[in-house]
Amino acid sequence: MRLSSLYGQAFQSIALPAMLAPTQSKATSLARQMRRQQRWPIARIKEYQLSRLTELMRLAEQESQFYRQRWHQLGLSADRLRCLDDIRQFPITSKEDLESHFPDGIAVQSRRNADWQYVGTRGTTRRVMVIHDFERRDYERAAIMVALTEDSPYRYGTREVSIPPDACSVHCGIESDRAVSVSRQLLALATRRVAWNRESISDLRGLVMDTWICAKTVLPPLPLDGDDSVLRDCVRKLREQRPMQLTALPEYLRALADYVRISDDQPPPIPVIRPMGANFPTSWKTSIESALRGSLREHYGSREMGPMAFDCHQTNGMHLLMSQHLIEIVHDGQPVLEGEVGRVLVTDLHNLAMPIIRYDIGDLARIDTSPCPCGRTTARIFLEGRVDDALVTDSGELLTAEAVSNFFYEQPEIKDFQLTEGRGGKLTLRIVPATKTDFNERAIEERFLSWMGQSRSISVRTTQAIRPEESGKFRHCKAQPWTT
Ligand SMILES: [Zn+2]
Repeated sequence: MRLSSLYGQAFQSIALPAMLAPTQSKATSLARQMRRQQRWPIARIKEYQLSRLTELMRLAEQESQFYRQRWHQLGLSADRLRCLDDIRQFPITSKEDLESHFPDGIAVQSRRNADWQYVGTRGTTRRVMVIHDFERRDYERAAIMVALTEDSPYRYGTREVSIPPDACSVHCGIESDRAVSVSRQLLALATRRVAWNRESISDLRGLVMDTWICAKTVLPPLPLDGDDSVLRDCVRKLREQRPMQLTALPEYLRALADYVRISDDQPPPIPVIRPMGANFPTSWKTSIESALRGSLREHYGSREMGPMAFDCHQTNGMHLLMSQHLIEIVHDGQPVLEGEVGRVLVTDLHNLAMPIIRYDIGDLARIDTSPCPCGRTTARIFLEGRVDDALVTDSGELLTAEAVSNFFYEQPEIKDFQLTEGRGGKLTLRIVPATKTDFNERAIEERFLSWMGQSRSISVRTTQAIRPEESGKFRHCKAQPWTT
């Protein structure tokens, strides 16, 4: 066992609760409870979900204008809820619903207090705002703790390196006059250069979080066009930091792994490699793990919902945090059969300040409820990409971004791709070839169409690199909007 891992364990069990105590946070005890709930008999978890859901829906009906009006128009009432399946009678909540009723039409006024925080989603297409109160944030802190440390050597206090798509986004929203270190902020407060108020205390808390609890080094985005100087710099930083965990966009992890493989430049072994911000193509797993000498671990979450699932050491799907959210998978508004792909609907069981019920989060996934060898009883989710990125075939079948990515990344002559669906279903395929020679555009076109099982107009072009979106993330599959 690494020394840093021992340090992390001691930090998390002794120092962290002591540091959180003055903030009255219950995060560490909530995290312990969440861990236990992962192994409860499934009937007990569902009973817990039902009691949370009942409280949430009663509150929504009484105090959230949006839900009350909508349900009453449809002749529905929260009293209808006798079992979890009864939630299916209630309408789905869209991003537009949240946007157009935010904040007064949807928030619960009786729970309004100074601790309310407005949280903006980091959506690639649109930003939605939600409200979290202190209690909700505490559950989220606990959920993050569970999602990042279950079956993993990573502990709070151990080093992490992060390469987000847009380094600015990490700091956006917390721009203030706060100092760069905990000691400087304390000095500034002591000398009255900074006034003692809510904001400066919250800055101090943020600094403690960033420097001691989640000791994170943020590196600039990596170029994907073969410029080695930034990659060399990144490997040097990894050698200096020796992180326990590396968090980065899947594309950056692959660029780094490719660079490590062809150069003599070796980073230290990185025990936990964690993709962020996008679906991870399964076919990249082995090469990234062997180049960076660690295990690839995934979790699923969003800004508005917090962590919703995490993988165990089996790395076969992600266990849902069922005590935190009620997750449904639907197609055409109806529940799908187990294992079938559909839209993900999320109900946040702990957000009483702004009820979010049956929220269409924009993802496609399938669920497996069969027992996992790890002993956790919770269902596992398999993500299939964004709804906006999925193609619909002529026969109405869904071709998810995950399936399309796996198809292209399994072709040895393709390094990267981007498939764009235009009006009338015309496809444009841009390809970055793995090697300059032996690339047959016609053969790729035929193979793809026969895999897709239909005749479509398609034009194939080769290119040097796929450009990221404005957010810094990559969209390999861009489909025309479809509705169900
Ligand atoms: Zn498991």
